[in-house]
Amino acid sequence: MNRHPLATPVQFVKGVGPAIAAKLARMGIFTVNDLLSVIPIRYIDRRQILPISELAPGRERTVIGTIAASGVSFLGKRRKRIYEIIVEDETGRVSAKWFNFNQRYCEQKFRIGSKILLSGEVSEFQMTLQFIHPDVETLTEGSGETYAKVIPVYPLTEGLYQKTMRKIVRNAWDSFNQFIEPVFPDAMVEEFGLADPWGCLQELHFPSMDTDVNLLNLGRSKAHRTLIFDEFFFLELGMALRRKRATTEAGIVFQRKEEGYNRFISSLPFGLTSAQKRVIEEIRSDMAKPLPMNRLLQGDVGSGKTVVALAAALQAIGAGYQAAIMAPTEILAEQHFETITKLLQPMGISHYLLTSNVKGCERNSIYSGLLSGEIPLVVGTHALIQENVAFRKLGFIVVDEQHRFGVLQRAAIQKKGERRPDVLIMTATPIPRTLAMTLYGDLDVSVIDELPPGRRPIITRLYEEHQREKLYQGMRSELVRGRQIYVVYPLIEESEKMDLKNATDMSRELALVFEPEFKVALLHGRMSGDLKESIMSDFKAGKIHILVATSVVEVGVDVPNASVMVIEHAERFGLSQLHQLRGRVGRSTHQSYCILMADYRRSEDARKRLAVMVETTDGFRIAEEDLALRGPGEFIGTRQSGLPPFRVANLARDVRILSQARETAFKIVEQDPGFVSPEHQMFRKVLLLRWAGKLDLASVS
Ligand code: ADP
Ligand code: MG
Repeated sequence: MNRHPLATPVQFVKGVGPAIAAKLARMGIFTVNDLLSVIPIRYIDRRQILPISELAPGRERTVIGTIAASGVSFLGKRRKRIYEIIVEDETGRVSAKWFNFNQRYCEQKFRIGSKILLSGEVSEFQMTLQFIHPDVETLTEGSGETYAKVIPVYPLTEGLYQKTMRKIVRNAWDSFNQFIEPVFPDAMVEEFGLADPWGCLQELHFPSMDTDVNLLNLGRSKAHRTLIFDEFFFLELGMALRRKRATTEAGIVFQRKEEGYNRFISSLPFGLTSAQKRVIEEIRSDMAKPLPMNRLLQGDVGSGKTVVALAAALQAIGAGYQAAIMAPTEILAEQHFETITKLLQPMGISHYLLTSNVKGCERNSIYSGLLSGEIPLVVGTHALIQENVAFRKLGFIVVDEQHRFGVLQRAAIQKKGERRPDVLIMTATPIPRTLAMTLYGDLDVSVIDELPPGRRPIITRLYEEHQREKLYQGMRSELVRGRQIYVVYPLIEESEKMDLKNATDMSRELALVFEPEFKVALLHGRMSGDLKESIMSDFKAGKIHILVATSVVEVGVDVPNASVMVIEHAERFGLSQLHQLRGRVGRSTHQSYCILMADYRRSEDARKRLAVMVETTDGFRIAEEDLALRGPGEFIGTRQSGLPPFRVANLARDVRILSQARETAFKIVEQDPGFVSPEHQMFRKVLLLRWAGKLDLASVS
């Protein structure tokens, strides 16, 4: 295949040797296109050169003058070495200082009498004005007016200098700009007020003399807006194609069997909420259609998604197919299995649990049962998508807590079906609408927006270390009432050992405080499956009163008698995680509490996050706040989601552009899925250039 010139490896750009190429690679820059797509983080305005006498502290300014003096001097009582130069023009003098410097280099560069440009923030020190670490440019004869420009400031990585970056972007531009082609047809350019890509990059890398630097710095210039649209548009185009393919492939028709369904519903120990009924209806009628179902089921923790999934699975089983329910952790798979066992009792449908704890002949017999079709329903972890698991007639797949799986795994399990099975993805992490559009842009969405009746809102409190005594009193009074308590300790990968020690110490301390009256136990991810299981089942049975855990309880254990969730070092968790953890309590009619132990005064970000937790229990609001505060990484985990990161677009900010881009992309794929019309030919090219190997683009190439 012919390589597009912009896909040329970045080493071929003048000025990029192996060392620089390696640094660029660290920033995810591999091709000329990648390099030209790096967007400056801000701009220095050097268009206006001020007379030195007009400098004032506090603003970014540029002056030009002659070096009147230069050399090492000493500052303050500690006599810190600094390099200082004095620059003068006809109107006055100003000093510039460097704290870390290479003396030889400075002496060569700052020769007395040479003409120099200084730009940076001006400050005042002992009544004189100064620049600290300014940008400098030595002006030689004939450099003319070229310095009077708006200069881009690029994101960098260690060992890569601003000057180098500017130079290689310039070189890449000079050699390759002729290959930048218009992407969008005129009608779209007109409708959305876009700039052409060539002009966009020109403006961002080499702003024109009449540019509005404020707009550039805010990321609100026309060029920025165009690139944001462009990023969203091509992502959504990929989504639209995936969806198109899914809806043109033949799926399975699962006939609705009302009798079996009614029997199941009336056998439940509770009545369904109206949200559950509505969502079940959406899913069941979707399953009865001849197209494959790709549906996201969103519902806050405790909203009752399991029974919905089960009702759907029964429809597939009733039609003679097998169903699989997949969970992200063993504990959660085990718990689903238990819940399902209870709910299915009156139905007499055989079902099995398959996790890595299931070994030997038990495992083999499940394998053969799945292969022969004797097992209609299986619950499990990732073990279900391993190579050696084969089904006879897999027709329906439930993937719980999707954000832990990612797009690729979703694809892997779909391949286990003989035809395209129906897929239901459940997530308890409320996902902001904008993000749902991008992450699950190829899915239909059902939302359970109601909790089962009788639940009381959880009371959330923020405590600091000096209130620990009060915490223990509160815990004791709940224990005395017969309730149980979770204490969660964060486990952070880099310092896993230390955190584990902290969790262990914590459980010892709690044992000293509460035992022998109440039993304390520790649960963490490094324990064997058997041990974890026995601790969990003791906790469920009420034999353990305080469960100290690393975040393994996060994903969905159900112990309705637990009424207190204590989160230690709450400042280390993201909002969505905190919300998940809090959702472990408040699962019955008992009043529940969530206590956030945190050292939050030092971090504004932590303070804001924790305030949101105290203020609201609305998962969707929390998700929106989380997105605004921390960006999408928290939800996506870009690495595993298979989604490319955005360079300019901001999901929290650019909602409107996202909707426009999405609507347009879907319309185009609807009308011209093969991009055969001449004005759509570029789309195919761009998709391949950008997303090849990242999104599944079989239908484009
Ligand atoms: P989640 O949506 O977090 O997965 P679950 O499906 O685990 O929620 O349900 C939480 C608890 O609520 C379970 O104990 C379940 O049996 C119970 N439950 C589900 N639906 C209802 C309902 N309509 N009324 C009462 N309890 C319900
Ligand atoms: Mg659940």
